[in-house]
Amino acid sequence: MAKVELKDITKVYEGNVRAMDKANITVNDREFVVFVGPSGCGKSTTLRMIAGLEDITEGELFIDGEMMNDVPPKDRNIAMVFQNYALYPHMTVYDNMAFALKIKKTPKAEIDKRVREAARILDIEKFLERKPKALSGGQRQRVAVGRAIVRNPKVFLFDEPLSNLDAKLRVTMRAEISALHHRLNATMIYVTHDQVEAMTMADRIVVFNVGKVQQIGTPLYLYNHPINKFVAGFIGSPPMNFLLVNVVADGDGVMLDEGGFKLKPVPEHIEYLKKYTGKEVYFGIRPENLEYVADASSSNNMPLTVSVVEPLGADTTLWLRSENTRELVARTGPGHIFKIDQKVNFSPDMTMARYFDKETELSILPLPQEEAV
Ligand code: ADP
Repeated sequence: MAKVELKDITKVYEGNVRAMDKANITVNDREFVVFVGPSGCGKSTTLRMIAGLEDITEGELFIDGEMMNDVPPKDRNIAMVFQNYALYPHMTVYDNMAFALKIKKTPKAEIDKRVREAARILDIEKFLERKPKALSGGQRQRVAVGRAIVRNPKVFLFDEPLSNLDAKLRVTMRAEISALHHRLNATMIYVTHDQVEAMTMADRIVVFNVGKVQQIGTPLYLYNHPINKFVAGFIGSPPMNFLLVNVVADGDGVMLDEGGFKLKPVPEHIEYLKKYTGKEVYFGIRPENLEYVADASSSNNMPLTVSVVEPLGADTTLWLRSENTRELVARTGPGHIFKIDQKVNFSPDMTMARYFDKETELSILPLPQEEAV
């Protein structure tokens, strides 16, 4: 059992660098939570405060209800896996994995049992007598994970563990770590700047930006209901398109005027957009919610010009520009052939449109309760 709670956790480094400002995060027992955000947003700092490798400037950290702020790292019952593996080069794989247990004076037979069990889980039994330099990157990362497993910790912390691996191996290791989480039934916190890792691995994601938690939720909740323009643009690849549009009165409701074309929001969105009449808002639409239409007769027609065509096999990514030379990305099925500079018509699925305040960049649509999604 291990629940990790961060209450108003703040880190100010020397020189008044505020790396994290009042983080409030609860990681439930056995949950896989991913901290994601661009480089420098404070996610490693937060993870290191949980591990006890950085002092907490303000706020409280609890593990299973016990305050941990002043508990030394070795007594927190946490194991951390680092990006650079941090293996001892002069020791064999077996000794690397056994090291922490030896320090704790665990009986030899118990150490042997735990090391062999972890090696079996990770499929590295045949490397136990090798030194780290005789292993590939992926194998080293497995040893680093094995070293964490043998300690049977309450909480596993991963700090960008896959960033040194090539793209193909990253995908394999991603699946292995997810399977491991399932198998060990342990609480895991995983830091990455890669939103695809976050989306594919997490039970819940915490999105960070410039030293602040932006939003916490399941991958699909964040994808469908981003709280602000930052989260909307960060989660999803290719990212959501944003167009600054004018909200103009249209009878009882409103229309959105891009300059080159007009769009009619769906009735359930109009009530929230009305108070922006006469102002600009960000209209956000994901690439897969832009539908190619054969002619210009659709009511929400966007006349666009093809800039770049990226056929990926299963689908095609199109870079498009409007008359105002605004860039848009669309994802279409493989059924159509597009050419550069071709004039095309697209129609957005207006039920999937998201809107953001131009000044605060907060979602204009209210977010539904997560349980209801
Ligand atoms: P991330 O893991 O999201 O890339 P970090 O947590 O490593 O970000 O860093 C957050 C911010 O804190 C950055 O601006 C970074 O430069 C700063 N920082 C990190 N470590 C230190 C340190 N030891 N002293 C001063 N500033 C630091």
